[in-house]
Amino acid sequence: MKNRLLTSLFLVPALLLSLQLVAQENNLLRGSEMCAKSKQMRPAPSVTDLRSPNSPRHKFDVLNYELDLDIFHCYSSPYPRNFSGTCLISFKVDSTLNTIELDADNTSLQIISVGTDGTSFNHDDNILTVNLDGTYHAGDTAFVSVRYNHLNVIDYAFNVGNGFVFTDCEPEGARKWFPCYDKPSDKATLNLRAKVPLNVKLGSNGSLADSVVIADSLWYTWVSIDPISTYLMVMTSRVNYNLDIVYWHNPDNPSDSIPMRFYYNPNENPASMEQMIIPLTDFYYSLFGDHPFEKNGFASLNPQFQWGGMENQTLTSLCQGCWYSSLIAHEFAHQWFGDMITCATWADLWLNEGFATYIEALWTGEVSGQQAYINELEGNAAYYLSANPGWPISDPDWATNPPGNDVLFNYAITYMKGSCVLYMYRYVVGDELFFSSLYDYANDTENFRYQTATIPDFIDKMNLSTGQDLNWFFEEWLYQPNHPVYDNSYSFENMGGGSWNVHFYTEQVQTASDFFRMPVELRISFSDASDTIVQVMNDINGQGFTFHFDKQPVSLTFDPRNQIILKQATTVVSAENQSISETILYQPEPNPAANVSVVRFSLAKAGDVKLVLRDLTGKQIHVYEMRNLSAGQHRHSIDLSGLSNGTYIVTMESADVTMSVKMMVVK
Ligand SMILES: [Zn+2]
Repeated sequence: MKNRLLTSLFLVPALLLSLQLVAQENNLLRGSEMCAKSKQMRPAPSVTDLRSPNSPRHKFDVLNYELDLDIFHCYSSPYPRNFSGTCLISFKVDSTLNTIELDADNTSLQIISVGTDGTSFNHDDNILTVNLDGTYHAGDTAFVSVRYNHLNVIDYAFNVGNGFVFTDCEPEGARKWFPCYDKPSDKATLNLRAKVPLNVKLGSNGSLADSVVIADSLWYTWVSIDPISTYLMVMTSRVNYNLDIVYWHNPDNPSDSIPMRFYYNPNENPASMEQMIIPLTDFYYSLFGDHPFEKNGFASLNPQFQWGGMENQTLTSLCQGCWYSSLIAHEFAHQWFGDMITCATWADLWLNEGFATYIEALWTGEVSGQQAYINELEGNAAYYLSANPGWPISDPDWATNPPGNDVLFNYAITYMKGSCVLYMYRYVVGDELFFSSLYDYANDTENFRYQTATIPDFIDKMNLSTGQDLNWFFEEWLYQPNHPVYDNSYSFENMGGGSWNVHFYTEQVQTASDFFRMPVELRISFSDASDTIVQVMNDINGQGFTFHFDKQPVSLTFDPRNQIILKQATTVVSAENQSISETILYQPEPNPAANVSVVRFSLAKAGDVKLVLRDLTGKQIHVYEMRNLSAGQHRHSIDLSGLSNGTYIVTMESADVTMSVKMMVVK
């Protein structure tokens, strides 16, 4: 308990000196932020179980990390990367133990001592084993403090350069700047205190609790009352950072305001993003429920930052100067999908990236219209189709053996294909169920909100929310590699009397993955310039469908609205019936007729044609033989004189096809 006592003693002078905060933070203490800060006083959420049913468990559950870091000299030339720190970990015991194992990278971290309930330690193979002062049982709470040094090494997690100090953790970088249980399934709250020079602004997760001057140093204290996965914990700072704060007001409760902090470099101007964040938050609020955290923010970094953006909880990192609307829309979507609900393992990353990439396109549609939304998804699909490396979106083995970043964060698969799966989910269940099910997911406080989620738990939630069994859909698209390659054919059959059949046959010919079951749309256009869209469930490979119409079809388009956005397809007229669709016998006119009627027909290729008029017994009445007709349209009169009232059959025989139509004689 020694460290906690020291903490309390420290806070007394800190509070007395807090007026100096005003000098350090530009216009920090506006009323609405005070309001937001007051939320720190609300009781902490229950941290007893922050995991969906299939999220992994281990022998203990971290409740809180309290970090004290002295990084004062990292801001001055030659910008060393070493610092000293203390990490106090409180945890609840889930099954009897007398040691705990933490992730602590041996290259980056040198462990000096352990304390409180820890008595001794061993630090090998990037694991810090802390021996406790006794045996602890399920339900016990214990504390381990670790004094350590970060070494002067480049590890891409703790970054120092030219007045910047920032961390970047996804997927497993947190263990390089503090000892922790570094798996996304174990969320914990965070207190981070850092000692920096007076001209440094430093941001972190949660709310700024204190910013006090002691002699030549500034001590920042940030407190996150909402649980965070370790890869989303962050510290971002630089000398002479610019900082603007804007406030989002809950449309349904305008007194509830959330500060949005924008940290930016000299010569950058985030003004347009400071404006956009308000309607963007309104939009996400309307789709996915309340903004989940007590503040939010963005910070642009320097070229040491290797990504476009990183959605650290309540403080997104951006590449230098990257104040781009699509990037902001993507990273901010992660605050709901990624941060509020976090992938339980790295096999569940689709729940982060597929969502943020899809929602980025929703925002495009909100700003620029439905077609822009579709264009963005079609662009995503095209990127995937041209760059598909051939592995699935999720491999369950990644839960315990995460692949390299080039696989885990593969742009074609994780982002582009991932977003298209949500696009197709929307097609399969329809707009209403799509949005209501995602809202249900985001607002399920029992299993998901502020917790972690696995893909199977997400699928269960979608089944429950939509009342449908959607396992087939998510499993084929998320766990199978590649996509369907359709080889379709169709034909039109004249049934006589103005009635036609459309025959459609679909087959998937991909060899590198199994069959993809999907509802399939067909657009059939008719000779009277009308058209219709029919939908059928294609649930076996090699499946034929017949549709009946009382007008003449002239063309068929497979998936005309490109709803199965991840596919390749060829759709051709059936080889065995090819001439039928082009050699056509039209209805006689007039019909019924008394003495004469005219039959029109078109020929796909030149040749002899015989027109035969028969009665219903098959007896030939007239035979008209025509030699060497050209391809194209023809007409011929049929003599009906002398015939009694009744039904007759006109048959056209050409070299490769025979077609018949019925006609009535009425005198
Ligand atoms: Zn992302």
